[in-house]
Amino acid sequence: MNHFEYRDGTLFAENVSVEKLAQEHGTPLYIYSTATLTRHFQAFDSAFDEIPHMTCYSVKANSNLSVLRTLAGLGAGMDIVSGGELYRALKAGVPAEKIVYSGVGKKAGEIRQALEADILMFNVESTAELAAINEVAASMGKVARVSFRVNPDVDPKTHPYISTGMKKNKFGLDLTQAMDAYREAARLPNVEPIGIDCHIGSQLVTLAPFMEALEKVLDFYRSLKNIGLDIRYLDLGGGLGITYDEEEPPHPREFGLALTSAVRDLPVTVILEPGRVIVGNAGILATRVVYAKHTPSKDFLIVDAAMNDLVRPSLYGSYHRVDEVTPKGRKKLSVDVVGPICESGDFLAKDREIPAMETGELLALFSAGAYGFTMSSNYNTRPRAAEVLVDGDQAVLIRRRETYEDLTALED
Ligand SMILES: *Cc1c(COP(=O)(O)O)cnc(C)c1O
Repeated sequence: MNHFEYRDGTLFAENVSVEKLAQEHGTPLYIYSTATLTRHFQAFDSAFDEIPHMTCYSVKANSNLSVLRTLAGLGAGMDIVSGGELYRALKAGVPAEKIVYSGVGKKAGEIRQALEADILMFNVESTAELAAINEVAASMGKVARVSFRVNPDVDPKTHPYISTGMKKNKFGLDLTQAMDAYREAARLPNVEPIGIDCHIGSQLVTLAPFMEALEKVLDFYRSLKNIGLDIRYLDLGGGLGITYDEEEPPHPREFGLALTSAVRDLPVTVILEPGRVIVGNAGILATRVVYAKHTPSKDFLIVDAAMNDLVRPSLYGSYHRVDEVTPKGRKKLSVDVVGPICESGDFLAKDREIPAMETGELLALFSAGAYGFTMSSNYNTRPRAAEVLVDGDQAVLIRRRETYEDLTALED
């Protein structure tokens, strides 16, 4: 359920017309809905109400400060993967004790930054990283709280680029290695193992891989208890999928119920790291047709958004629903919706039945709130899109469109 709906023949974001926003702020334009963000966060978080838990939103899905502030205001913690994301989370007012830090390549400076802020814990992904954390903590006279990311070797049956919990992936430690790592951590003076972490992939549309991973994590939890470790946190990661096309992912309630029943009796706080499921369907990308191009073999809509604005179709072959913002009832054509970038991989949608459209008319790409703006770039010296956050009748420009001066500002 989201708050992008057609009313009186045109698309609205909550109570604000998308045509009007595009006119005011230009295109390409990311438009987010506060009501949708709120609803998704609360639906997810409340699914775990029966157990001690923390919902640490995954910042990389959409890291605009206003989005982070909105979620922080609802009580969200954050899952970060870089010093930059730590900076954003703190700036948005997220309490450090609700921040967990994941990622395979934390540098010494970033570790120091996180220890200074006194975040809840590091999700450690290798023994080399453990040594680095111990060393930085020692130099600061601190003890770093850590968990290890375990790799349970389950197949999440998602796109290979977003599957992270199989043996061949760079993430985490297999269970045997992880046991040695916990023993090592218990010996080191400047780290304290307090949790177990696991994140097997993204856009999962069935519960089975989550449950399979959880079973292995729980077995592992018992082994750690047996060697006398005081594990108080189970971080079960993110990954719950959303509907882009015809997927039918489990509802957060179902997901919560399944996980809750498996861990209910344990003296632990469960941490969840949802990203896509919170923001994915809370955002659209509005773009204008630059040209309709007809060739003997194919019809194209060339629009003013491109792979630099929304890379998911090019990178993962992802599907985003595309529709006219103001349907005109023209006959449908099979088209590729493509951007102006000089790459054949620059497409937003392929072989879609879309009504014939003309220069200047508006299209919406749906489900663009997650891994949309955050993965955008300046390729082809294209200024990045503006972002607007709607709340009821109000729309606020939460990131202005980049200018050419912005793009060259850091160069000699
Ligand atoms: C990306 C990521 C998430 C969020 O994944 P979603 O599929 O967006 O829910 C959570 N945890 C970690 C460690 C991640 O890398």
